[in-house]
Amino acid sequence: MVTRRIADILRNGQPDEPLTIKGWVRTKRELKECAFVEVNDGSSMANLQVVLNPDLSDYGNIIKQLNTGASVEVAGVLVESPAKGQRIELKAETVKVYGEADPETYPLQKKRHSFEFLRTIGHLRSRTNSFGAVFRVRNACSYAIHQFFQERGFLWVHTPIISASDCEGAGEMFTVTNLNLKDIPRTNAQEIDYSKDFFGRPAYLTVSGQLEAEVMAMAFSNVYTFGPTFRAENSNTSRHLAEFWMVEPEMAFCDLEGNMDLAEAFLKHVFKYVLETCPEDMEFFNQRIDNSVLATADNIINNEFERLAYTDAIALLEKADKKFEYPVKWGLDLQSEHERYLAEEVFKKPVILTDYPVEIKAFYMRLSDDEKTVRAMDILAPKIGEIIGGSQREERLDVLERRIQAQGLNPADYWWYLDLRRYGTVPHAGFGLGFERLVQFMTGMGNIRDVIPFPRAPLTVDF
Ligand code: ATP
Ligand code: MN
Repeated sequence: MVTRRIADILRNGQPDEPLTIKGWVRTKRELKECAFVEVNDGSSMANLQVVLNPDLSDYGNIIKQLNTGASVEVAGVLVESPAKGQRIELKAETVKVYGEADPETYPLQKKRHSFEFLRTIGHLRSRTNSFGAVFRVRNACSYAIHQFFQERGFLWVHTPIISASDCEGAGEMFTVTNLNLKDIPRTNAQEIDYSKDFFGRPAYLTVSGQLEAEVMAMAFSNVYTFGPTFRAENSNTSRHLAEFWMVEPEMAFCDLEGNMDLAEAFLKHVFKYVLETCPEDMEFFNQRIDNSVLATADNIINNEFERLAYTDAIALLEKADKKFEYPVKWGLDLQSEHERYLAEEVFKKPVILTDYPVEIKAFYMRLSDDEKTVRAMDILAPKIGEIIGGSQREERLDVLERRIQAQGLNPADYWWYLDLRRYGTVPHAGFGLGFERLVQFMTGMGNIRDVIPFPRAPLTVDF
């Protein structure tokens, strides 16, 4: 008999269909005349109700084993459900228990558990309703991202995880080494002798694939990365991880306007896809996690994003009758409270801020003619703040060299990056999206550690 996924059965199953399911028991209810067992296989939020009648062979023994968490295979026929709550149910003919779960020790019992507690059982939490929904939506987002770019002819390029360059000179990188930490080789000046290390020079886990994506865009025109990045920042916030995934499209022959258009179409596409493919999960988030999730998704899909220059945003913030913790002044970076004020209270929708002061942005962003601002763009989302950061890149060799030097970096370290401007340079642009921030935004989950299966953060590397 064919094994069917439960999501498919709940949607398409018809009475009298014979079939087999495999999954894990969520709950069991024993009555005098029969027993009901709810089985989940991860394909949907909803469980399939299985009815076991006492005439089943070995009934008493099987019922004893079907506790929450046990793994089972059930073969039977679908019947219309006489009770409210489900359209169909599975009348069991044979039941095979693969593995029991002792109700005395299995940590996931029927009551509601806090997310803090569930983080301590990261190996089991995916079997709950909340995490089932989160990781199905995370999967749908991933698929939608690839779909969006692939349909537009972008190449998915794999940029390295081990890197010798710090993308923005921002520091906070994890070192990759195989030196013996108990006996570190030293130079005469007592510095660490990296010539004895694996790569013969310092190497790090990447903080961004952008520079390498630019290399690939100069051959394939439109590319994107989608992979893990690492930051050793000691920030214990609900929006920062030490290991997170980034999506970084890079487009040749593209300016900042093209970049904004793409980013907006991109976010709209991903939201639309998730609403279409995960309606039950999104409904769950709206009911149980954050009751503005569906309205926000609707807002993203149906409204044009606000586009605003940094200078105008500063003017708005200075006029605001709200007290901010951090100062607002032209030339200072915006804090999350400012970003959220603009997105949540002033415009009530995503805002694309452009043309930031040159001093607060990275060297590779294109200098404007007044030399005071660069062609940067950040997309600010309600509840989250910055979700996307991007820019038109500096394509002029002399200006780029000057900017690298101005930031105290050595142009020689960027020889290959500068070569892209020496040979066949073109205007180009791209952006980076923090994938977990997107999943947080989509689901309303408050803590970024609850939207990645195995979170890595300061002092956190379990499972
Ligand atoms: P923030 O100010 O929030 O720390 P950032 O300015 O350091 O962000 P970028 O260097 O521009 O961020 O990184 C690109 C994107 O990656 C950000 O827009 C954000 O969505 C995401 N991001 C940055 N740092 C983290 C992190 N530690 N954990 C998860 N996502 C992150
Ligand atoms: Mn940061």
